[in-house]
Amino acid sequence: MRRARPISRFHTIVSRETALERFPPPGRGALPVAAGYPAPYRVGMANLGFHFLYAGLRSSPRLAVERFFSDTAPFTLETGAPLSSRAVLLFSVSYEEDYVNLVRILHEAGIPPLREERSSSPLVVVGGPAASANPAPLAAIADAIAVGEGEGVLEPIVRLLAEEGGGARRAALEGLAGIPSMIVPGLPGPGAPSKEPFGGPFPYSVVATPESVFPDTFLVESGRGCPGACAFCLATSLYRPFRFLRKDALEEILSRLAAPVRRVGLVSPAVAANPEFVPIVRMLASRGLGVAMSSLRAEDLDEEKARLIGSVGTASVSLAPESGSERLRYRLGKRVPNELYFNAAARLSEAGVRQFTLYLLIGFPGEDAETVAATKGFLEGFRKAIGGRSFSVHVNVLVPKAWTPLQFHPMPDERSLESLQNAMTRTIEGAGLRARTKSVRSAVRQALFSLGDERIGRAAVLHVAAGLAWKKALAASGADTEFIRARKGPETPFPWDAIPGPVRRGVLWKRFEAISAGGRNGEP
Ligand code: SF4
Repeated sequence: MRRARPISRFHTIVSRETALERFPPPGRGALPVAAGYPAPYRVGMANLGFHFLYAGLRSSPRLAVERFFSDTAPFTLETGAPLSSRAVLLFSVSYEEDYVNLVRILHEAGIPPLREERSSSPLVVVGGPAASANPAPLAAIADAIAVGEGEGVLEPIVRLLAEEGGGARRAALEGLAGIPSMIVPGLPGPGAPSKEPFGGPFPYSVVATPESVFPDTFLVESGRGCPGACAFCLATSLYRPFRFLRKDALEEILSRLAAPVRRVGLVSPAVAANPEFVPIVRMLASRGLGVAMSSLRAEDLDEEKARLIGSVGTASVSLAPESGSERLRYRLGKRVPNELYFNAAARLSEAGVRQFTLYLLIGFPGEDAETVAATKGFLEGFRKAIGGRSFSVHVNVLVPKAWTPLQFHPMPDERSLESLQNAMTRTIEGAGLRARTKSVRSAVRQALFSLGDERIGRAAVLHVAAGLAWKKALAASGADTEFIRARKGPETPFPWDAIPGPVRRGVLWKRFEAISAGGRNGEP
C-alpha cells in the first residue's frame, strides 16, 4: 500500500531548518536528483556523510536536489515529489542494518529494488562506509557503488550528472564506470579507490534542525580514522592514516556559515586524539558556543582535557573498553590498561561529568570464563573511580568487518552468543548496574551483510518486496549463511576481493594469527 503524501508535515520540518551554507539556485532544466539516507530524518540529519552528499550535489546549479529519508519516502522532503520521478537517487549508507530500509524505500516508491529489473527507473547510486567495506551485497541492488572516501568521487559524479545526466541510462552507467572508486556491476571500470588520503576540508553540516538527534547543532568532522589499532575496527582500517581538523580550518568554516550557530558537535571516532583538541574547544568556548563530542578514548584524557570537557558543560561521557578483561583487550590491539580507564573516569567525574556509559563487546576470539569474571572486577574498579555512582553498560555482539584482521574470525553460533550475553548481563546486574543489550539475531543479520555477497542483497529484496520471512528469504536467495561462522584461512575468497583495499590481506592474516595464538601479541 502506497503511503499518503504528508506534505504539511514536510513543510513544517523544512520551515524549522536553518541553512548554514549558501548554494546556487537550480537553473532552468536542472536535472531532478535526490539525496537519501535510509533511516529517519532525525538520524540522517545528524550524519555528516549525508550532509557531504547533499552539499556536493547542491553545489551544481544544473542539479535540482531534494532530500528523502525512510520516514519521508516514497516522497522527497522539499516538494513531496515521488522518488520514482527523479532521474537519480543517491544514497549515503553508514550501517549495513540500513540496507533493508534502502530496499524498502525503493519498493514503496514503486522502483524495482533489484538492479536487473530496472530499465527506465531512476539510477540508484550508493556510497558510504558500509558500501566501501564490502560493496558485494549492494551489487544486486545499486546501479553504481562508490567505494573509498567520498571526497575523490562525489565531484566527478556531480560533474557527470550535470553534463550528461539527462541522457540514456546506458551512457550514464558507462560514464559512472569511468570514475575511479566507482563500481558499476556488469561494466568494467577503474573501481580502485584513490590511494591518496583526503586531507580536508572535512565535511560539516550544511543545514541545522531542532529535529536532529543533535538538535540545532553544527556538526563538523574533527578527525578521520583513529590512531588506535583495534583488530575489529573499521574506522581505523578503512580510513588511514588518522587525519584531523585544525583549529584554523574550523575558524574559517565558522566564519563563512550563512547563519550563526550556538552549539558545535565535534565528530570523530577519537575526538580528543586531535592534537588541536584543546585549542579548538577553548576557541569554541571563548565564543560562547556549546560543545558536544561524539566519541572519547580514555587514553586521550589527561587532566587538562578532562577539565576542559567538564568546563564546557559535558554531563555524560561514553567510553568503550570493549572488554572488562585487560588480557583480552590487549590481545585485540586495544592496549589500554584498566587503570587508565579508572583514572580518566575519576578526572572526568571531578570535572563535573555525572553520567557514564561503558560499551563492551562479546564474541571475540579467546573469550572464556575469565573474561566474565574480569568484567566484574573492572566494573567495580570503574564504579569506585567515579565515587560509587551508577552507570550503564551496553553489551553488543562483535560483528566481523571486511578489511579488519577479524574478517577471518568465525563468529560463534547464536546460542553461544546468547549464553555469553546472558552471563555478561547477570554480571552487570549483579553489580547493581543497568545492562543494555541488542538482540543477537540482529547482530547475525548485520554480519551477513558485512561479510556476505550479492545473494544477501537478493535476500533483502525477497524479504521486503516478496514479503518472505528473513530466514526463508535467505534460503530462497541461496545465501551462504554459514560463511560468517566458517573457519577461514589466508586463501579464503572474500566477496570484496576484487577491490584493492586499504590493507594487504597478508598483513590482516598475520595479525589474526597472532590474536588467535593468544598472549598480548595482537598488536600490529
Ligand atoms: S580506539 Fe575506537 S575508534 Fe580507535 S581503533 Fe579502537 S575501536 Fe576503533
